[in-house]
Amino acid sequence: MNTSVVLFTADLRLHDHPPLRAALDGADEIVPLFVRDQGVTDAGFAAPNRLAFLADCLRDLDAGLRERGGRLVVRSGDVVAEVCKVAAETGADEVHMAADVSSYAQLREQRLRRALEADGRRLTVHETVTGVVPPGAVTPASSDHFAVFTPYFRRWSQQPPRDTLGAPRSIRVPEGIGSEEPPSRSTVAGTSPGPAAGGETEGRKRLTAWLRSGIAAYEDRHDDLAGDATSRLSPHLHFGTLSAVELVHRARASSGPGAEAFVRQVAWRDFHRQVLAARPAAADDDYRTRHDQWRSERSAGEDIEAWREGRTGYPIVDAAMRQLLHEGWMHNRGRLLAASFLAKTLYVDWRVGARHFLELLVDGDVANNQLNWQWMAGTGTDTRPNRVLNPITQAKRFDPDGAYVRRWVPELAGVRGAAIHEPWKLLGAERARTGDYPDPVVELADGLGRFKRARGRD
Ligand code: FAD
Repeated sequence: MNTSVVLFTADLRLHDHPPLRAALDGADEIVPLFVRDQGVTDAGFAAPNRLAFLADCLRDLDAGLRERGGRLVVRSGDVVAEVCKVAAETGADEVHMAADVSSYAQLREQRLRRALEADGRRLTVHETVTGVVPPGAVTPASSDHFAVFTPYFRRWSQQPPRDTLGAPRSIRVPEGIGSEEPPSRSTVAGTSPGPAAGGETEGRKRLTAWLRSGIAAYEDRHDDLAGDATSRLSPHLHFGTLSAVELVHRARASSGPGAEAFVRQVAWRDFHRQVLAARPAAADDDYRTRHDQWRSERSAGEDIEAWREGRTGYPIVDAAMRQLLHEGWMHNRGRLLAASFLAKTLYVDWRVGARHFLELLVDGDVANNQLNWQWMAGTGTDTRPNRVLNPITQAKRFDPDGAYVRRWVPELAGVRGAAIHEPWKLLGAERARTGDYPDPVVELADGLGRFKRARGRD
């Protein structure tokens, strides 16, 4: 009997899963394995909101495998040691897994390959599982990666994605392999009050609903903060409960300007992934340093705390930060505004903001989070690094009657219309009704706080 292990990582699904398909084609029995990796916890990456989503994903994956005659094997510990143990216990000669882009993922792959080969086993790593166009598949003439999105997107669009694969009908798992129970979301402490549910079943439902009634209006509505008219598929892409390849095929099949704009946005994900794969240090270091003298956690402590709590006195920023606290998710326009406010207006080191986002975001992702933060901080791939988003003009444009602020900042719920965006201008009884909503932490001039201007003169 010939056996292969399929190591699931950020690809927690049965549909369109090349490692699973290859293992089923090449072996009589397979071991679908997930390791609750101590290394991820040690790296501080096991945030409660993501652990809860992960628990849903593992339960759903186990249920899907059981419907097909198999089951998920769950282990905890060092991922390399656990995979080697399972391979030895079952006599598997091959392990299949997805390629991924972070330095952690790249190191994991190298360590695993070495350990398996030392035992006389093989590691087969599959591209196009966690993204659409793999890092390095398209490059400019003079570099190993694209540093600007528009030319990248042109080349990305010319790469036909591989065909999608159906979910397997049946799966045979060897008898007698020890496994932990898949974890349950109820055992995870410290989650946000209203985070999304995880799992492939949930992701596929959301995708179907999105293609039926969301995507057509995406181009016109994706920046409408109150309309909440984006797909909210990011956690599913992050955990791989949806395949990005399948998503692009199905979005394109729905055609129209909404679909084109949506696919372009999905390409941003691959763009950041190819930057991070080529420059893994950009997770921590400026991609293009501009020698900023950021205010640190020590010098800007109170401002940072106000930002984290959604009490900066700028209602649109506070609404976005409170959405993050409540849902573990934030609208893209809110992320841009919150990041611009911290990095440009308060002139706080982008790493402070990126860390806070990673502590809460269900879709928190090293490539997308760190590189979007760098884009907004002016140290990344933005071709206009001095760009500042003025929270008041942006609020009037993307939340014109204040419905988004009213939803998330109850102190201001009684203020009518766009006046909600500048509560310090309210008078008399209307001002009194805003209760303990704070005054602005900083005055603005062209969207900038005084800090960067002051440092600029140093
Ligand atoms: P939609 O608008 O429906 O877009 C569809 C998909 O395209 C998203 O699910 C996502 O996978 C991809 N996408 C959209 N916009 C971007 C973008 N700017 N960069 C990369 N991919 C994109 N996204 C994450 O997935 N994880 C993060 O940790 C993350 N951190 C961010 C931090 C900051 C400061 C900023 C400005 C953006 C960040 N983003 C991150 C990108 C983006 O905000 C989210 O992907 C998006 O808001 C998710 O909502 P959605 O699924 O409804 O997006």
